[in-house]
Amino acid sequence: MYSKVDLHSHTTASDGTYPPRALVETAIRRGLRVLAITDHDSTEGIPEALATARGSGLVLWPGVEISTDVPGAEVHILGYCVEFRNPVFQGTLRRLRESRVDRARRMVAKLAKLGLPVAWQRVQEIAGNGAIGRPHVAQALLERGYISSLPEAFNRYIGRTGPAYVERYRLTPEEAVQLVVGAQGFASLAHPVNVGPAAETGEQLDLEALLPRLVPAGLAGIEAYYTGYPPEIVQQLLRVAGRWNLVATGGSDFHGRGTLTVGVGEVAVPEQVIDQVRERHARQQRERAAQGKTLRQSA
Ligand code: AMP
Ligand code: ZN
Ligand code: FE
Ligand code: FE
Repeated sequence: MYSKVDLHSHTTASDGTYPPRALVETAIRRGLRVLAITDHDSTEGIPEALATARGSGLVLWPGVEISTDVPGAEVHILGYCVEFRNPVFQGTLRRLRESRVDRARRMVAKLAKLGLPVAWQRVQEIAGNGAIGRPHVAQALLERGYISSLPEAFNRYIGRTGPAYVERYRLTPEEAVQLVVGAQGFASLAHPVNVGPAAETGEQLDLEALLPRLVPAGLAGIEAYYTGYPPEIVQQLLRVAGRWNLVATGGSDFHGRGTLTVGVGEVAVPEQVIDQVRERHARQQRERAAQGKTLRQSA
């Protein structure tokens, strides 16, 4: 049994291994009603995904995942139902992707100094046209036999506290929320608890410190259903959602073969989440329209 809803997935437009068409076809076969594609800093996969979903029973939500951080921890912001053609939005995503290239290059240089040379050209080939990320560097390390699994690359070298880690240009969490909301999207805080497939070695997020910053910026959801979250974590996050009046969203964080091995639709997300997001999004849009706020006008 697959869930009818999966609001977190990656394609070859970032560090997933399924092209958008293959991901959407898999989701259709599995009977999903709504799939959100949320590539890192990119919506390049969305047109192909929308074309594949057209005429099927599946509704494709154009999405994005933006990596930001606070001292000691990663904060990822999901954006749903974004007007992805918005030029201000795309300009920012492009800048984020460019900083990824520079950062990957510097990680490769650090790895060489540590005695683990990999060819920059090979890392670029692995990333293809997608937003380059650490999983691509990890794959190159694996191919050279320096590590025996992809997580090992993060644990030993390119995790946040690893010797080959390099920082890059990032938005603040508030800026990422504002970017999504400015592109008419619905913003949700991704995997707020540091367990599961995307867990980094960093600290837990201090939600009671973070949410007072993000809710006024326009945060509307929090990812409560997520691969690897045990029931007590889900319950804890549902309570947080209730306290802050956020919609509890959820998704698998599907990446295909490679670092995260869960399948699309293989996390239990209640179907009612679809309507809750839609209603909340519509209300937020009406309120913003009344205030005359869009990215174009604020640019
Ligand atoms: P980046 O976007 O370049 O900072 O890379 C972050 C991505 O690497 C995450 O979205 C995951 O896909 C993957 N990742 C992060 N931590 C780990 C880990 N410990 N093991 C495997 N994959 C990871
Ligand atoms: Zn990823
Ligand atoms: Fe993430
Ligand atoms: Fe993700």
